[in-house]
Amino acid sequence: MSRSSWEAVVERLAEAANLCKLDPDVHRVLAQPARVLEVAVPVRLDDGSVEVFTGWRVHHNTVRGPGKGGIRFHPEVDADEVKALAAMMTFKTAILDLPFGGAKGGVRCDPSILSTNELERVTRRYTVEVAAMLGPDTDIPAPDINTDGRVMAWLMDTLSIVHGSHMPASVTGKPLSLGGTRAHSGATSAGCVAVARAAFRELGLLMAGRRVVIQGFGKVGAPLAFLLSSAGMRVVAVSDLGGAIINEGGLDVSGLSDHVGETGSVAGFGGGEVIPADELWDVDCELLVPAALGGVITESVAERITARVIVEAANGPTTIEAQTVLDDRGIVVVPDILANAGGVTASYFEWAQARQAYPWDDNVVAERLRQRMENAFTAVWARSQALGVGMRLAAHVVAVERVAAAHHARGLFP
Ligand code: NAD
Repeated sequence: MSRSSWEAVVERLAEAANLCKLDPDVHRVLAQPARVLEVAVPVRLDDGSVEVFTGWRVHHNTVRGPGKGGIRFHPEVDADEVKALAAMMTFKTAILDLPFGGAKGGVRCDPSILSTNELERVTRRYTVEVAAMLGPDTDIPAPDINTDGRVMAWLMDTLSIVHGSHMPASVTGKPLSLGGTRAHSGATSAGCVAVARAAFRELGLLMAGRRVVIQGFGKVGAPLAFLLSSAGMRVVAVSDLGGAIINEGGLDVSGLSDHVGETGSVAGFGGGEVIPADELWDVDCELLVPAALGGVITESVAERITARVIVEAANGPTTIEAQTVLDDRGIVVVPDILANAGGVTASYFEWAQARQAYPWDDNVVAERLRQRMENAFTAVWARSQALGVGMRLAAHVVAVERVAAAHHARGLFP
């Protein structure tokens, strides 16, 4: 039987704990989420009937600061998945050295069949049911799958009503009109560029003129293609759900963006040739960025990749078996938990600005984001070199060591 998401987290934790000789007491604490709240979310639908959805909010660990993590609305979300995602947020925030712990939330519903009014009622009722766990000093939600700035605005409004005070620091990923940050939307892509640049530097490679292949041309992939080509790289091949295209000389990324804006897919773009989607993995390149789905780099795909560096913009794109192949082939993999942490870092800045009631200039946000990502990369790279392990394991080691240090400093109550 394949392992559940939570079992996979526990396994990875054990591997890192073993490598860094983690205090067994701290290991036991981290092998369980601190709080799991399951709630019924009764909502009146537009036809007058009442549907009862199930929702969760989980704090995995809050020893380094308030819980931080998104809320997803999805028909298949369950407690196991939310627990695993909360633990990943504990590790991600520790790797970026953000003063947060790990949290996550979810409501099992299908937003594609809910009206806007129904979605608002789901959000507001869910918020009230988990309100005891939320707040700027306890747990700060953000958007995730099928949730966005609009949902965050309803959440913040509901929480502000429950508490009778304006609470802009209780949520991140808010609309600009409520103190969201302009740099939030492209932050994940900007973070990927920062770690790609750092990896190239460590390998003694220049970015200018080097070739990049990107799977996925959505909210992360499209701005990323633009940023990498602005950095002088040649974006030679891109794929999305509609197909894959190649241009050895480098695709015209703004032309491609316009085409996707008009047609919804990279397929049919005049500035490149069509290739079968699966052949994307064979395209010669120095940098490969999976920015679409999980589980796409399998063992057999890993054998075909020509890149020197893989930056995991997507969550979980590489299977465990494929990682072994990539390690054996000396391909540097910047793991998702580090590579796509630009979003949560921008969330941290949004929270800090809301607490100060003083917005920062866009260039300050961009520069601090770059610096944070670089520092995190450097810490993980150094640990990976010292331990002689890949960056994924090294990232988990950095995370558990930081969480363990906070546990030891605070001690155990009572
Ligand atoms: P998105 O829905 O905006 O874009 C996904 C892209 O992947 C689309 O271009 C889609 O056509 C493409 N795609 C889907 N199936 C494909 C397939 N079979 N082959 C090739 N392409 C395919 O999503 P996004 O927000 O850009 O997220 C992409 C990945 O990055 C996800 O794994 C997500 O979890 C991760 N991520 C996103 C953020 C963020 O800030 N949006 C932050 C962290 C991680």
